[in-house]
Amino acid sequence: MSTQRGNNQRSRPQKHKNQTSFKNNLHDTSQRTKLINNIQVSDVCVKCKGIIEWKIKYKKYKPLTQPRKCVRCNQKNVKQAYHVMCTDCGKKLGLCTKCCELKEVVTGKPNDQEQLKLDNEMKNLLQSLPERKRRTFLRYLSKKNEEGDEAKSEEKQKEDLKNKLEALRANDSADKEDLDYSDFDDFDSSDE
Ligand SMILES: [Zn+2]
Ligand SMILES: [Zn+2]
Repeated sequence: MSTQRGNNQRSRPQKHKNQTSFKNNLHDTSQRTKLINNIQVSDVCVKCKGIIEWKIKYKKYKPLTQPRKCVRCNQKNVKQAYHVMCTDCGKKLGLCTKCCELKEVVTGKPNDQEQLKLDNEMKNLLQSLPERKRRTFLRYLSKKNEEGDEAKSEEKQKEDLKNKLEALRANDSADKEDLDYSDFDDFDSSDE
């Protein structure tokens, strides 16, 4: 017997112990599992974060198929599974968006937010480009993705893309000027 009556302290180590920890993507390489594994749990307290991360790890996590009603503002604003309050209400009231208790919550990493800002910035830049340049950039982007330049950090790669975008834009306004002062209609041959 591993324990004596009335003694809950185990006196010997566990008999059968896993050699490696459980990996939820060992036999499942689906996109769904990949996406779920990438979820950054935030705007909840440490305890709730742990609960949700446990669900993710042991494949109990069921993503929401559609936003659910926030218990506070009644808007269909809750996008994360297991959260009951929307991020805005949680932030406003300083509550955990899962257990709704007044606790310190885990926020998304500032680094992620910065990255996101850069992404938005890039999106705006991309929107400001004419269709032709946009395609040029998207081709450049997919080429970069194929190359999968692992040596460069993600940050460096984004910097790279941003430079490319800005170069395209600069070169776009140069094109326009050229057209303004030129009588040629078919001047458009530069970087295709
Ligand atoms: Zn709300
Ligand atoms: Zn909580």
